[in-house]
Amino acid sequence: MNTTFTIDNLIRQNVKQLVPYSSARDEFSGNGSVFLDANENPYENGVNRYPDPLQNQLKKRLTQIKGVPPTRMILGNGSDEVIDLLFRVFCEPNKDNVVICTPTYGMYEVAANINAVGIKEAALNEDFQPDLDLVQELTDENSKMLFLCSPNNPTANLLDEDRIIQLLKAFPGIVVVDEAYIDFAQGKSVLDKLEEYPNLVILQTLSKAWGMAGIRLGIGFASEEIVEVLNRIKPPYNVNGLTQTKALELLDDEARYLNQLNEILKDREQLSKFLSDLLYVKKIYPSDANFILIKVENAKKLYNYLLEKGIIIRDRSKIVGLENCVRISIGTQEENKLLCESLSEYNSKF
Ligand SMILES: *Cc1c(COP(=O)(O)O)cnc(C)c1O
Repeated sequence: MNTTFTIDNLIRQNVKQLVPYSSARDEFSGNGSVFLDANENPYENGVNRYPDPLQNQLKKRLTQIKGVPPTRMILGNGSDEVIDLLFRVFCEPNKDNVVICTPTYGMYEVAANINAVGIKEAALNEDFQPDLDLVQELTDENSKMLFLCSPNNPTANLLDEDRIIQLLKAFPGIVVVDEAYIDFAQGKSVLDKLEEYPNLVILQTLSKAWGMAGIRLGIGFASEEIVEVLNRIKPPYNVNGLTQTKALELLDDEARYLNQLNEILKDREQLSKFLSDLLYVKKIYPSDANFILIKVENAKKLYNYLLEKGIIIRDRSKIVGLENCVRISIGTQEENKLLCESLSEYNSKF
């Protein structure tokens, strides 16, 4: 990394100067018995009190699981919220830009557009790995963030750690590594690089392997300095009370998480084998996620055929580089069986 790198230079001026909203729960967090400071309805119903704005209990539990201290964690209303917060901290609207490695998760581009931030698309190479030269070429003095999705959605592959490291060293701004699917990967997370690289932000989520998409809980891991500034601009109660309670409850059942994870991994291999015998399947991309990307003879036709059977997959064939590709999530064993029956039927008609 270049020696002049400091996070402080990357933070928007208005964010630095901002006086954050101070809630009643921020101003008093000790033990009391009569709370008359937040204009809440005093009658107990389970949700009449504002939730903990910094989700301390939940972070403590996540620290046990992830091995990262709470001071290096920001929780959001899904990781999508953390993505948006990052844009608001580091990117000046109508001036700055971010580099994304396409094809990838659509939310980076949407968040950039919402925040009037430019996008530079560095196409992944034929193995769906970032092209270091291309990223470097596209990066200019207004490039504030680089998004790397690993395992990448929708291509399903893990990015080479060596490449991520090289980009962490070379990129002059924040490098966001989105690890939404890391639980399903053979390789490992870059969480252990957090200490070494002050420009690294890692996103994880409880939406996928932990099975909590419905409660919206995403995690950002970063330096204390970055976490502090994200906390300054986040909506004070961005993770609601029901979410905090439910997450704590489900995070306690690690056996369930591990069993489901193992089942999904086993079923992924099974489905992958099954797909390889189908005539119209031209390519099965290796997967480090809970979905499989395949190239078929005619994506639209297959999509519509399955749709008629009530089975919904994702047609990704309009994306440059993913012509005739569809993305299939791993379902329950029963769901996968129904899928395979329909896929066989389609094969016999082909
Ligand atoms: C599903 C997904 C997420 C998760 O978003 P949440 O808002 O946490 O549900 C993040 N990144 C990628 C690449 C995803 O596919």
